[in-house]
This record gives sequence, C-alpha cells and structure tokens, in this order.
Amino acid sequence: MINHLGAQKNWQTQISEAITDINELLSLLQLEHLADAYYTASTQGNASPANFALKVPRSFVTKMQIGNAKDPLFLQVVPDKRALTKIAGYTSDPLQEAEFNPQKGVLHKYKSRVLLTVTGACAVHCRYCFRQHFDYASNIPSSSQIKEVIDYISVQPDVNEVLFSGGDPLSLSNRRILQWLTSLATIQHIKTVRFHTRLPIMIPERIDDELLAIFTKFEDRFNLVMALHCNHANEIDDNTARHLQKLKCCGVTLLNQAVLLAGVNDNVDAQVDLSERLFAAGVLPYYLFLLDKVDGAAYFDVEEAEAVAVYWKMLARLPGYLMPKLAREVANKPYKTPVSLY
Ligand SMILES: *Cc1c(COP(=O)(O)O)cnc(C)c1O
Repeated sequence: MINHLGAQKNWQTQISEAITDINELLSLLQLEHLADAYYTASTQGNASPANFALKVPRSFVTKMQIGNAKDPLFLQVVPDKRALTKIAGYTSDPLQEAEFNPQKGVLHKYKSRVLLTVTGACAVHCRYCFRQHFDYASNIPSSSQIKEVIDYISVQPDVNEVLFSGGDPLSLSNRRILQWLTSLATIQHIKTVRFHTRLPIMIPERIDDELLAIFTKFEDRFNLVMALHCNHANEIDDNTARHLQKLKCCGVTLLNQAVLLAGVNDNVDAQVDLSERLFAAGVLPYYLFLLDKVDGAAYFDVEEAEAVAVYWKMLARLPGYLMPKLAREVANKPYKTPVSLY
C-alpha cells in the first residue's frame, strides 16, 4: 500500500490533485511495463471512450494493491484499450434518457421521483459510467435556473422524492447544497431527498462538519438518503468507514448500489465481502445492477445467467437484509427491472 498521500488535505484540494496522467498512475502502482495495454484519453473531441479522461483521486489509489494489474479498484478506473473497439449493441445513451428530460437538469421517468443532474463533475471517472457520454453542457441548471427546476417540481404533486445525481452531486459546494435544500423545503409534497454519490468513497473528507451541519438542519424536514456507489470491499478502509458513520448522527439513511463488473466483483466471495464491509460501515446494500450497455464498457459485462448463479450463492451466505436487489435498467420502463432468478 502507498502512504496515505493527501488524506489530510481538504476535499477540494484532493479533487484538484486527482491523477489524470496514465504514466503517473502506472508508476505509482509499479505497472509501467504494462503501458501498452492502456491509452491516454484526449480531453477534446466527441463524446467517446477515447475522450473520456482518466481521473482518479490519490486517496483511492492508496486502496489499490501495488504491482497488481488485476486489482479490482484499478480495473474500474484505468483506460483499457479494449474500450476502443466498437461492440454491437453498446451505445452512447443506453437508457435513452434524452427522452425524459422535460427541462434542463430534470429527468422525470418514474412517477414519484424526480432525478436532477445538478453537476457534470465527478471526483473519479469510472470506465463503465453510463453517463460518460451525457451532454452535461446543455443539462446542468445554472444557479439562476434552480428556480425553474423548483417551479417544475412544485406542480408535480405525485412526486415525493428528489434525487440529486450528476456527475456527483457532492462535488457541489456546501453553499450550493444548502441553496437546493432550502428551495426544496418550500415544496410541501417533497418528503425525501436522496444523494447518489461516490464521493464519500473516493474522498471521505467530503463528509465535512459543514455538510453534517446542513444535514442536521434538514433532518426533521426531509427523509435524507445517501445512495453510495461502491463496488468492492477494498473501497472502504477505516478512514472511509469512520466518515460514513458520521452521517448516522444526522439521521441520514445509507444505502449502496453496485454494478456487477467482470473481473472486479463477479464472484460470490467479493459480493459477500462487499455486503459485510458496507454493513460494518453503517450502509445497507440496495441494488446490484447488471451493466448498462454503454459504448466502451463491453469488457465489464457479465452474462445474466452468470449473475443469477452468483446471486443464488449470495443468498446461501448472507442474511436477507444484506442482499441487494438484482436489477437492470431497461430503457423506457418506469422502474428498475428486477432480474428473474428462475
Ligand atoms: C434510478 C432512477 C431513479 C431511482 O430509482 P429507485 O428505484 O427509486 O432507486 C429515479 N429516476 C431516474 C431517472 C432513475 O434513473
């Protein structure tokens, strides 16, 4: 393990110092001899795997094993040349989200819930990200457009929950998060606010005292939910678990969604370890998704029959409350679709 580079720095500094150079990543992990297997993503040009930059915070790299090209955390972030081969059936918008976009920043697909893409920024670029080709430039509400989003939600009485997504919503400043929550609090039919985020896993220091104070301020007004994205037990070290536990004090319900990824977590031991490690950090498993068929991610795919076989083995080893729901996104369906076990 590498020393805890930078873990004491504030989260903004840690984001700005994320590794973006493949040679630096390989050198830190002593994998330079394998450089031919990876590529340098240019940051210009069209949305494609070739232009989806490498980005990984140093504190996440400290959780990887030196010298191991099959490390489950490394595999999630390294631009692998296999991504550059076009595979039939893999597209840039597998969920056809563009059709459910009534206005800038709003995805309204499910009757009781509205999802807001509040920022395009993430602390990490995961190579299987289904929004890696999303047109953020035209879909992020500016601060002056927050009012239009609020106006839209105000006239949707069936909506009782607002999801903050992105990008990663915790890459917003605390001031901006406070602004959103204050506005939403004026809408009586909104009962629950949920953050979909990978930042507490990537940079645990994001759970800072100011953010905890904001959640404390709203804990009586909203059910506060944080849905983490964590795919492997090694992503949760003691520092991460300690910061997650802090959220319990201000009434935040902690859930996790994972994606079943070939070579990363597609076996029963990895899934059992993940559920148990999450629970030890105060988090309950929520979903285990099959991969979305996004261009560049085919090499992570796990066949449905294999996923079901892993799931049955998990059932034999885990208590019911540590079993995530096995599901997939089917474009145009108004829910996450359960995967049939039979
Ligand atoms: C996944 C998703 C949700 C949330 O679904 P849950 O089953 O409640 O977790 C809401 N809106 C959109 C557009 C989604 O993709």
